[in-house]
Amino acid sequence: MQNPPKILHANINRDTNIRDLQAKWPCTRSGYRASYCFVSDKGEHTQLSHEKLDVWAMSMLKGPEHATLEKPPAHRFFNSTIISPVLQMRKDAKEAKKLTKNTSAGTSNLLAGFVNLATALRAPAPFVAPHPYPLIPQINAITTSLSLLPADRTIGPSLDLEDFCSQFGVDISVHQKLSNEGYKTSHHLQYATVSELKEVGFRIGKITSLKDAVARWSLPLD
Ligand SMILES: [Zn+2]
Repeated sequence: MQNPPKILHANINRDTNIRDLQAKWPCTRSGYRASYCFVSDKGEHTQLSHEKLDVWAMSMLKGPEHATLEKPPAHRFFNSTIISPVLQMRKDAKEAKKLTKNTSAGTSNLLAGFVNLATALRAPAPFVAPHPYPLIPQINAITTSLSLLPADRTIGPSLDLEDFCSQFGVDISVHQKLSNEGYKTSHHLQYATVSELKEVGFRIGKITSLKDAVARWSLPLD
């Protein structure tokens, strides 16, 4: 039933990409020896956390048009211009906190940082209409809540159903049932809805565990 070579292959590819990225992007700024940074054309450092390396490495698996060793994916992680104002304020407050940590006169700055943060958190987030027609997003929201894929995530790599199930710890009974229903790859699962699965006799707990596996397999939206 299992297919270890293929599973290993997908994981190794991602791990290799992460290692290659770490080799390619050690932070060159003095005092930051232990970390990795993507450095933009403008010389801005974006520290490559494990999560960011993971998103980048996974994106590279999708093909060079998505990301390469030199080119990060078109993802908010790597584009400071699309950082939300609230996140920026939080970041500023954090920076302020860091800066004042070692100074004795830091308390007032630290407070200012917290005040900024509090203001940012209290301020309503700028409303960006997701779609010119107000009815459509609502319909989408209803549809996506019934789908296994979380609304704010996109599909992960294409895997055989078997590989998907073993990599993301899906029960053998669920795997069997999905296979009986004709699902063949991880990408097919994006079209499965909760009601369809209920109809063919999936218990709600099994659906929840499958949703969890799909959520872990999915990637953050670009
Ligand atoms: Zn750096």
